[in-house]
Amino acid sequence: METDYDLVILGGGAAGLSAAIYAGRAMLKALVLDGLSCGGQILVTDVIENYPGFPDGISGPELSRLLCEHSSKYGAEMRHQQVTEVRDLAEPVKTVVTDDGSFSTKGLIVATGGSHRKLGVPGEEELSGRGVSYCAVCDGNFFKGEDVVVVGGGDAALDEGSYLAGIVNRVTVVHRRDELRASRILQQRALENPKFKFLWSHVVEEIKGNGVVEAVRVKDLKTGDTYDYPATAAFIYIGFTSNSDFLQGQVPLDGTGHIYVDANMRTSIPGVYAAGDIRVDSYRQLGTAVGDGITAALSAYRDIGQA
Ligand code: NAP
Repeated sequence: METDYDLVILGGGAAGLSAAIYAGRAMLKALVLDGLSCGGQILVTDVIENYPGFPDGISGPELSRLLCEHSSKYGAEMRHQQVTEVRDLAEPVKTVVTDDGSFSTKGLIVATGGSHRKLGVPGEEELSGRGVSYCAVCDGNFFKGEDVVVVGGGDAALDEGSYLAGIVNRVTVVHRRDELRASRILQQRALENPKFKFLWSHVVEEIKGNGVVEAVRVKDLKTGDTYDYPATAAFIYIGFTSNSDFLQGQVPLDGTGHIYVDANMRTSIPGVYAAGDIRVDSYRQLGTAVGDGITAALSAYRDIGQA
């Protein structure tokens, strides 16, 4: 059976790159399609404090760089291409179509992760890049000494909020409940930081500004009051949606677009695997994504590498 590759890995984040290291070392001819850039979500994370083996933390961009270098070291090929379609997944030779070509492969690991969920309120799209941001590490510096809001109450909101607190004058967290979802250590850090302020049980109804963000219109869910809260930026961290649109009808997905896999990252389609945030029941941690990627590559090697 002639194919361009033994294994094509969709996604160049922690899961995809970990799979590439193992695939390369197993002498599989592997291709990683990483979209626009290698590194995934950690590329836009300031400091990673919970990745085992780095007691002092490691910067996200630095860890991304190392992972990208490591994944190429054993022969996996990397291409900055966006997948648009997958075909013939149930066949022994599968086809992956990108914005710049198409490839045949025996195996496919889907590790395309997720994208930041949008609030869907007026002003969000119009002021995106003009104060509305989904990446504190990328955009925080534009708001030095200013007052910004962070929307959300999970790990990402507080983690990125802490990064912003080192740059801006005040970080106001707008959260829809009066209890945070984030881990205890991040909660404690934020609650003790004098630069943090919390608008509990509030939702953002609109992002306002003339060309740039000037305020967010918020609603107090307990009193029903709505008012404009001044801010020059709104950083939105309300979770992720899975990047699986191109898989609709091709791979069994749950109602939120996550791929069903077994404990070895196999889907129900022979030769097709999923790893990281895209799969069902993921804890969505860097360490679990790495483990998923490795598991998927080892399963692929067992299934197709020795064929
Ligand atoms: P998340 O844990 O799903 O939290 C999303 C937050 O946004 C929740 O507080 C949620 O409110 C709120 N929210 C959701 N939809 C909303 C809406 N339409 N309007 C207003 N608020 C809304 O997402 P995440 O913080 O992005 O984290 C995702 C995963 O990545 C998690 O597993 C997390 O542990 C991991 N992560 C870890 C770290 C770290 O360990 N340092 C950093 C970043 C991410 P409710 O609480 O009311 O549901």
